[in-house]
Formats: sequence, structure tokens, C-alpha cells
Amino acid sequence: MKKLILVTLISTSVLISSCSDSENDDEVSIHETSLSQLEIDDLNFLREEEKLARDVYLYSYDLYNLQIFKNVSNSEQKHMDSVLELLNKYNLPDPASENIGEFNNAELQNLYNDLTQKSSISVVDALEVGNIIEDLDIKDIATNEGRTINIDLLDVYTSLKCGSRNHLRNYYAQLIFNGGLYIPTYISIDEFEAIITTSNEQCINN
Ligand code: MN
Ligand code: MN
Repeated sequence: MKKLILVTLISTSVLISSCSDSENDDEVSIHETSLSQLEIDDLNFLREEEKLARDVYLYSYDLYNLQIFKNVSNSEQKHMDSVLELLNKYNLPDPASENIGEFNNAELQNLYNDLTQKSSISVVDALEVGNIIEDLDIKDIATNEGRTINIDLLDVYTSLKCGSRNHLRNYYAQLIFNGGLYIPTYISIDEFEAIITTSNEQCINN
């Protein structure tokens, strides 16, 4: 008897919400079918920016065989996958090359070239590069967050930024352990300190 009442309550509330809120339905369908050019540009850039992180860390893992580079590159692959899912959902082509170290965005190609060159100098440099990439990613994703109200995009941005904070914590700890030092160049000192002085977070889809 209790079950029956519950089912009746649920079906009534579904009925009410599906009938009364047609304005909301319109909004949902807009979010699922169209993105602004700026939102598309941001997704395209982000897809290759996550690839930049993955490819640079794979490069460093090959050179130094240090586990952090492998672990974080695996996480960056998941970030790339999350952005690709969004591109697919909105029927947008994938801007990323299948080849490691190859980028369609010239700015990211230059960054890859510079950052792998620095990473090749020493393991401390490679760990510093980890800090640089995560510092940049957090700033860029925050910028993207300010340019959309689309829930699909915001969910992915939240998840990727959470992952970047964890990566930064881990790269920073390893850098200090290896005698290095890092001062943020993209995010503020306050934000940086708030990250590195707190524990790893549980992020969705990371
Ligand atoms: Mn990432
Ligand atoms: Mn990262």
C-alpha cells in the first residue's frame, strides 16, 4: 500500500513538471542543439590543450620513467575524452590530431615545442613544466567558465579544473621534493597557495 502511494506521488509530480514548464523545455533544447562560436572555439582549444598536457607528460615519462608523468598523462587522456564527448554531442568535428606532439592550433604547437625542450633539460625542469601546464590550464578553464552558461560545458569545466588542481598539487610536491621551486605565472599567488596547501580532491570523471 505504501508503495502504491509513493508511485502515485511520483507520477503526479512528473506529470505536473512535464506539463507546466514549457519555458524550461525550450531552454534545455537550446542548450542541446546550439553553441556560440566562442563556446565552440573554447572547446576546440581545450581539446588540444588537454592533448598538450598528455603529450608533454608522455614525453617526460619516456625520458625519466617517473610514475607521476604516466599517471597524470592517463588523467589528461580522460580530460581529452570528456571534451571529445561534448564535441560529439554538439556534432562538432574533432580538432585534435591522432599523432603525439602534433597540433592544429599554432599557439599550442609552439607551447609543445618549448615545453618539451625545457622538459628535456632535467627531471626538475620536467616537473616544473608540469606546474606551468597546470597553472595555465586552471587559468584558461576559469576564463572559459566566464564565457558560457551551458550546463554541459560548465560540468566538464568543473571536472577538468578539479583534476588540474590535483595535478598541480602532485607536481608541486614532487618538484619541491626534488629541490625545485615554482611561482605561479597564470593564476594568483593566493589561489596557488590555496591549492597547494590543501589535500587532493575527489573529482568527477578524472
Ligand atoms: Mn587536464
Ligand atoms: Mn592536468
